[in-house]
Amino acid sequence: MTHPFHPLRAVLLLLLVVSGPFAAGAQSTRPLIEHVRELAAEGYAGRLAGTPGERRAAAYIVAELERLGVQPLPGAEGFLHEFPLPPEWERPLPTGLNVVGWLPATVAADGPASPTAVLLGAHYDHVGDGLAIAGIRRPGRRGPHHPGADDNASGVAVVLGAAVRLARAPERPRPVVLAFFSAEESGLVGSAHLARTWGGVPLGRVVVADMVGRLGSGPLQVEATEGVRPVVAAEAGRLDVALSWLPVGALSTDVRSFDGRVGETVALTTGPHADKDTPGDTVDKIDAGGLERLAALAAGLAR
Ligand SMILES: [Zn+2]
Repeated sequence: MTHPFHPLRAVLLLLLVVSGPFAAGAQSTRPLIEHVRELAAEGYAGRLAGTPGERRAAAYIVAELERLGVQPLPGAEGFLHEFPLPPEWERPLPTGLNVVGWLPATVAADGPASPTAVLLGAHYDHVGDGLAIAGIRRPGRRGPHHPGADDNASGVAVVLGAAVRLARAPERPRPVVLAFFSAEESGLVGSAHLARTWGGVPLGRVVVADMVGRLGSGPLQVEATEGVRPVVAAEAGRLDVALSWLPVGALSTDVRSFDGRVGETVALTTGPHADKDTPGDTVDKIDAGGLERLAALAAGLAR
């Protein structure tokens, strides 16, 4: 099909051409929906923890962090943090991989030191072909591809989008940990391992994004400890995102791994739907503009 010439198209094209060279880094102009499209592709095979698809997704995230100039955690050899999977799962690989990056605080030499870090996190694993959700696989069976676009390629995209904004910010008052968890789908195993073994700068706030791809006209559902709610409300107000508050403990997501360990916890979701853990959780149902707004919101919560 051909497209008739329209003056608006010419103007848009001109804008694209003009804005390109002046953008501060190619990654800043890459729409976050592209991360969702990538991770939901069949090549990642549904990103089941302990499988080659999970490893490929981890490598993709590492490459993105490197492009942004994000560092490994202080003292860590790289971005990958391996943890054991329960042997009874009988996955092709006995371990899962968390991907963890670090943006140091930028503080004037005579300024106050930042006492605590903020962790922005999202699980990147999903349910593979859908037959191993409970960890037990029926031999010889193979299900259809489960893309997991909303659950939780969307959360990965939002955290990567926050990372772009924070990496380019003129100053960061607090250090930021960027955590991409695996084995969430089978019991929050990756985030529990990170929370249990954390030995870095104390975490003052943890923000988790899980299923954040369907914002539309909102509202964004938020579970947050009391002290941090005014911060969430202010950031959402600035971005004109409507909020619906959930009671603490309502969401079964990685934030649970930090209960009792971290003073302020926040979990963000655009809510459940019938496509969860089915082949219907596809990229065409993701609100691309919503991802960008929630990335800005997440970045605001890391200051
Ligand atoms: Zn999830």
